[in-house]
Amino acid sequence: MTLSASETWSRLLDRARLELPEQTYRTWLEPTEALELEGNTIVVVAPDRFAADWNESKHAQFLASLAPVALGHPINIVFRVDEERKSRPQMDLFVAPPPDQAKKTAPDGPATGVQLSTRYTFHNFVIGKSNELAAAAAQAVAAAPGKVYNPLFIYGETGLGKTHLMQAVAHEIMQRAPSTRVCFVGTEQFTNELVAAIQKRSTPEFRRRYRETDLLLLDDVHFLKRTEATQEEFFHTFNALYEAGRQIILTSDRPPSEIPGLEARLVSRFQWGMVADIEQPDLEHRIAILQNKARLDHLELTIPDDVIRFIAEHVRSSVRELEGSLIRLLAYASLKHREVSVSLAREALRDKLRLNGDGAAEEKHALNVQSIQQAVAREFGINVDGLRSKSRTKQLTVPRQVAMFLIREFLGVQLVEIGNAFGGRDHSTVIHSLERVEILCQDPAFNARVESLRKTLSDLHR
Ligand code: ADP
Ligand code: MG
Repeated sequence: MTLSASETWSRLLDRARLELPEQTYRTWLEPTEALELEGNTIVVVAPDRFAADWNESKHAQFLASLAPVALGHPINIVFRVDEERKSRPQMDLFVAPPPDQAKKTAPDGPATGVQLSTRYTFHNFVIGKSNELAAAAAQAVAAAPGKVYNPLFIYGETGLGKTHLMQAVAHEIMQRAPSTRVCFVGTEQFTNELVAAIQKRSTPEFRRRYRETDLLLLDDVHFLKRTEATQEEFFHTFNALYEAGRQIILTSDRPPSEIPGLEARLVSRFQWGMVADIEQPDLEHRIAILQNKARLDHLELTIPDDVIRFIAEHVRSSVRELEGSLIRLLAYASLKHREVSVSLAREALRDKLRLNGDGAAEEKHALNVQSIQQAVAREFGINVDGLRSKSRTKQLTVPRQVAMFLIREFLGVQLVEIGNAFGGRDHSTVIHSLERVEILCQDPAFNARVESLRKTLSDLHR
């Protein structure tokens, strides 16, 4: 009976599997394929140079020793790199395109090819106290991938620049060595792909893809499923890359030891290299980030310093929020044809400011007697002091009545209180005012005006 190359190889592997630790088998032998069988020599391809060398030196002899039992005759085993696979464009992960194509899109293919964001470079990353350790570690890794801190584990709350920093390392390395194979993947995607691979029985393919890379960026590992299969798979991927001296960078929203359900062996591996955290930026840092952003987008002419400062003071939750605030402010300004100013920022960022806790306490209860008086005064083009005064000029009387009316409607406060808010008027004056407004509202134009004020106020209320 003559066996084909692949039959021969799989007999040997079946046998080897009984004797080798599962992890060794899966890491090194499972991803191999028999190429040809000539006489007593079988040529087997491994996914990359390292795997081929490793198998040659660690496993060839051992596998050959199994041959008499498994095949009934001796055999020589030669490991080679899979040239065909090496030259095949890697459709399914992001691979740095040659420099002249660097601006073009990633190779097309399944949705797995996540592009690196061109903006996420060291150049665009503002370093401050909160991230200096992580940034320094990232720079060290970029300078000597696989050598200094492996893995690099960056953790911190969402929106603080973990993904940015991780990709900055990739950009830097690729700039120096454009042929570096980089794989950037979110942990959820990694998990989904694994599950799909198991279903389609294509796990060797899956493994190859992740183990052939020079730089693996696994984003948000706190999503690593508690399922054994996923952690097991990642454990092997990690080992394979680590042993091969490839750089691994991980991010998470918390330190390794606090990731729920993470196996102890992964926790310990994640701590092997450098664990660096990123914290909330302080005020100066937030200002610098906003200025940098304004500079990057050539916005410096339209955003005055006091506005930058205002945003930095009030938006504290994350860098992402800071950026979002700036974008929203500019959109708001162009929509309303108004100049960018602190008061416009206050208006445009109302919701964000209110969400932001103590720093914006006055914004939190945006709807109060004062804010209604302000809104009405603005609508009628008068000042708030006039509105609150005893003056009976007609120009002030009607707006004052409207303000009382809306305060009653929105806040339901007592008539006496309303009177007090307008220079101590008695409650019969207030009643008269409310009735007046009802009559005036029979005029559609006037009614529309009140309606638009209502809308402004409900927005405040949201
Ligand atoms: P994370 O991955 O921690 O959730 P990201 O890396 O996605 O956060 O960052 C959110 C946004 O904030 C991105 O647009 C990023 O460019 C920006 N960013 C974060 N930190 C900085 C920084 N130090 N300097 C400049 N931009 C930053
Ligand atoms: Mg991220």
